[in-house]
Amino acid sequence: MSRSMATRLRNMTTGPCSLPGCYLPRRRVSTYCEKHATHAWRYGDPSVIPLSRAELSSFKKHVVKVLKANGGHSALTAAYQAIQSLLDRATEAAELIKSRPGKGQPAAIVALMLHRLNAGGASPMELLATTAAICLYDQWRPFRTNLVRMCAIANALASAKQLGPELRKDPRYAFRFNNNSQAARVQLASYFVNIVGSVLPLIERAVEGALAVREKRTEAALEKLWQGQQEELKLPQVKRPSDKKLLSQMSPPAAPAPAENSSAPTASRITRTLMPDGKTVKVERLLADGQTIMTTYEPSNQRKAQ
Ligand SMILES: [Zn+2]
Repeated sequence: MSRSMATRLRNMTTGPCSLPGCYLPRRRVSTYCEKHATHAWRYGDPSVIPLSRAELSSFKKHVVKVLKANGGHSALTAAYQAIQSLLDRATEAAELIKSRPGKGQPAAIVALMLHRLNAGGASPMELLATTAAICLYDQWRPFRTNLVRMCAIANALASAKQLGPELRKDPRYAFRFNNNSQAARVQLASYFVNIVGSVLPLIERAVEGALAVREKRTEAALEKLWQGQQEELKLPQVKRPSDKKLLSQMSPPAAPAPAENSSAPTASRITRTLMPDGKTVKVERLLADGQTIMTTYEPSNQRKAQ
């Protein structure tokens, strides 16, 4: 073995993980560390963020509404039948499988996975809705690769039904669904994608239509709100304060506008009296030269010259 070959082999098995930013040692012949190799195995990419249940359900609820509103639709019925026959055929095949299939037998693993969904009571409608929801999600925010998309579909389908107690003890099954061979999971997802593909455009249009109606209703409600803002609010009733309060709160009347004659004498004494009508206040100014200026004003501070 040449030195360069040996070095390359050693680098292959002892170098750091090939994911940028990760310096953990590689796992056996993988180019990734233990953690990233497992992540790539489960989700189809070492760094992808798996599709969360919340994200999936936000799409799935719209699909389920459309499916429920179209119970007798011929294309949907045909798709349900195709899924049911897929499950039934797998159950027949699974009965012939006696031991846990190896990684080189994806067909047998797929048969067992489908049998498990069937035995768990997964309905064709539920499986179709899950697959369609992920396909719609993919159109809105595309998965990084097709492998990531297929892993997401297979993992979501599997989580639809947990392993029942009778299957849990069955040595033919992997404890965790996504511990199954990746090739088998991709195969399983592709069966469902092929069936759902025939009705996906129909579902997509119905979901979009329903969302458009909802958007219109939201707009109409907002429009109503906006119109409400155009109408002025009525003023609340205001009580007239008592005379005593009026006098105490009253600000002194503004000084009379300066006369043209700037040497006009300044006020030396001011007396205020409330007039008998209870509204008007009389102000008397006794000027230095003995002249008296009388003004009245009302609580609104509008001065009236006399
Ligand atoms: Zn790593």
